[in-house]
Amino acid sequence: MSITKRMVILGGGESGVGAAILAKDRGYDVFLSDCGTIAPRYIETLQREGIAYEQGHHTAQLILNADEVVKSPGIPLTAPMVAQLAAQGTPIISEIEFAGRYTDAKMVCITGSNGKTTTTTLIHHILVRAGIDASVAGNIGKSLALQVAREPHKVYVIELSSFQLDNMYDFRANIAVLLNITPDHLDRYDYKMQNYVNAKFRILQNMTPCDAFIYWQDDPVVSAQLARLRVDAQIYPLAEHREENTAAYIDAEDNIIINTPGTSMTMPRADLALHGLHNVYNSLAAGLSACLLNVGSDAIRSALADFRGVEHRLEPVATIDGVEWINDSKATNVDSCWYALESMTRPTVLILGGKDKGNDYSEILPLVKAKVKAIVAMGKDNAKIVDFFTAVGISVTDTHSIGDAIDACRALAGEGDTVLLSPCCASFDLFSSYEDRGRQFKALVNALK
Ligand code: ADP
Repeated sequence: MSITKRMVILGGGESGVGAAILAKDRGYDVFLSDCGTIAPRYIETLQREGIAYEQGHHTAQLILNADEVVKSPGIPLTAPMVAQLAAQGTPIISEIEFAGRYTDAKMVCITGSNGKTTTTTLIHHILVRAGIDASVAGNIGKSLALQVAREPHKVYVIELSSFQLDNMYDFRANIAVLLNITPDHLDRYDYKMQNYVNAKFRILQNMTPCDAFIYWQDDPVVSAQLARLRVDAQIYPLAEHREENTAAYIDAEDNIIINTPGTSMTMPRADLALHGLHNVYNSLAAGLSACLLNVGSDAIRSALADFRGVEHRLEPVATIDGVEWINDSKATNVDSCWYALESMTRPTVLILGGKDKGNDYSEILPLVKAKVKAIVAMGKDNAKIVDFFTAVGISVTDTHSIGDAIDACRALAGEGDTVLLSPCCASFDLFSSYEDRGRQFKALVNALK
């Protein structure tokens, strides 16, 4: 006689509701609990599926009797209910871990501090263009669990945050991409960088010599960690310039080169759809992944050339009176802004500001000095930006709304210039999200036409 196992899902967002459906289909006794509010579309799904749920609180006696728990990545391990479950020894896993048990599809997993969404979307674009039955999952699109349960694919391209990786144990990636590691989310890692690094490297656990590990070789944090580890997967390092072992790089003639055992491909860097050095890395990682999935080099070249990009990432908005306007609202840290500035080819008016996560603006100072003609600060409190840049002789206009910021940019930018929104900061002081900030920016810029 089989005993029905109880699966409790904590968090009623995309991943939680997907996990609940998969658990139901697999015969679990399922209960979903969210201490906040569940979005109406998910309530509707839970009701239609007949899945028991609660919102606004966690009822301990309905949760602590779980055989296993799927925790949404947004809930910290220190949340009281999670801590209680952990203390009593209840296994707590992520939705990706759970879904991975029920599929034999190929798993291409992308992690890193910056560039995950771009690279995930780009890999998916190449695979679909090559006729492969591939789908995105993880932080973007439909949850992996829902797709595994109801609309299976042969390949999943999965964007993995460190929070998802935290609760992954037996999951195996067939191709893992580690783009870079810079300090981020340290509040969730006891303010210890090594804990965050360890979370990212969980992507390697369970990989075998049949699998491939693609990583950015120039990243000192990644290299230092790799020196301490044994990696069972085949390694494919990528770098700006060729070093020992480098599988993908830019050559002296400014071509990108990608070498795998099955393929050797080259393509002028200028033909890449995405600009900026960071996007060369993303394109190399995507090209390597596609080669390893046996996509031919012609298909890879054309897909790398016609990719449309991802909204809010160096997104061209319009050119008005000779001024180019670019939306890079997703640049919520200094590192992202660095790469955006690196890719600028025209004199730039830079919009900076928002909720500062402890930024050190000296990291972008050389690029600002070389490329930026004026800074427009846009935030509730711009004192740090104004003080830092005026002290080194760079002009800063102080604004407190998107409308005023755009007016200031209009006055400062002339024909042949670029206005770049790449704020280095989170958006929550003036906007509901970076998407909201980017959309308002685009709407107001388009209204200038
Ligand atoms: P994520 O999903 O990891 O947040 P995105 O693809 O959304 O990353 O890109 C966010 C920002 O990070 C972009 O606006 C860009 O400025 C920067 N970025 C993208 N790719 C890289 C990279 N490989 N290295 C460093 N920064 C990058």
